[in-house]
Amino acid sequence: MIHIRTEREAIALFNENNNINKPQLILGSGSNILFTDNFKGTILYPDLRGIKIEENDYDDESVIVSAGAGVIWDDLVEWTVARGFGGLENLSLIPGRVGATPVQNIGAYGVEVRESIIKVKALSTDDGSIRIFNNSECEFGYRDSIFKRKNKNRFLVTRVYYRLSTRPSLNLNYDSLKHEVNLLGKETLRNVRHAVINIRQNKLPDPELIGNAGSFFKNSVVTCAVAEKLKIEYPEMPVFEEREGYKKLASGWLIDQCGWKGKRKGDAGVHEKQALVLINYGKATGKEIYDLSEEIRKSVNEKFGVDLVREVEVIGVI
Ligand SMILES: Cc1cc2nc3c(=O)[nH]c(=O)nc-3n(C[C@H](O)[C@H](O)[C@H](O)COP(=O)(O)OP(=O)(O)OC[C@H]3O[C@@H](n4cnc5c(N)ncnc54)[C@H](O)[C@@H]3O)c2cc1C
Repeated sequence: MIHIRTEREAIALFNENNNINKPQLILGSGSNILFTDNFKGTILYPDLRGIKIEENDYDDESVIVSAGAGVIWDDLVEWTVARGFGGLENLSLIPGRVGATPVQNIGAYGVEVRESIIKVKALSTDDGSIRIFNNSECEFGYRDSIFKRKNKNRFLVTRVYYRLSTRPSLNLNYDSLKHEVNLLGKETLRNVRHAVINIRQNKLPDPELIGNAGSFFKNSVVTCAVAEKLKIEYPEMPVFEEREGYKKLASGWLIDQCGWKGKRKGDAGVHEKQALVLINYGKATGKEIYDLSEEIRKSVNEKFGVDLVREVEVIGVI
């Protein structure tokens, strides 16, 4: 495992590429990764720090803030909210580091980080050359980007640049969020952040206390025809808009309907409040968690004909 603290260190490392054993895995906090085995190769651990306002791009209504890949994501959110910069507040308390945010295109409560990212600085792990990806070159999708596909482990993100609003308009499209904000008082950036934190702490298990990787599966994108057919059979099924010709189904609802919520197999289990979250009660191995996820996928497929896609990255031989 190679701990990378500065860009200069990384450039030198990749230039002398000959020493690095392949395959390579870039690791942030590991909050979206399930290891079923040891990783037989080199783990690259970028720990570049620093948050700064890029003064040159400052204008009346927005500001560009950049952060090193190793900055804890929620520290950056807190930093921006404290300065009255809007755009990241709905993404409060998502575990992990800044470097993973463009990789995953993290999202919550009606906001995706791609709405704020203007560019991503990355280093080629082949030769140490620096490359700037602008927003469209990141090819963002739902929990997806170019860094998860053809550039996976080929580009190490070192710094991410976010355009934030100095006159924020709040996104309170989620009823539960609006309700929680109103309980706290005025509709301010600070209250949105507190409301998101309250909801998340109430709904999701804290990975510091009980092992979990957040949503184990993505919500399911199906064609409109499939969604309509299912809706006739299950009128209460939640269906959301997607790109043209497609709808999104709440995978947590599908899993719940198959009776998995709160179920436990040894130390591997399904969270009692959120069926999308698999948890490790203590001694479950990565393989046991993976096996549970496969059982869930099978039963959802049998009942609804929907193929659940894992959000969590599984490492190891399975
Ligand atoms: C309790 C809980 C709740 C969660 N809630 C949400 C949520 O609401 N919304 C959401 O979107 N996600 C959520 N997640 C998932 C997770 O927090 C995000 O995916 C996060 O971005 C992962 O960050 P990380 O630093 O831990 O990345 P890791 O898990 O270490 O890595 C994730 C991927 O990014 C790659 N990567 C990491 N850093 C770099 C880098 N510097 N350069 C290139 N590639 C890199 C890795 O190779 C891997 O493919 C949740 C997870 C938990 C445990």
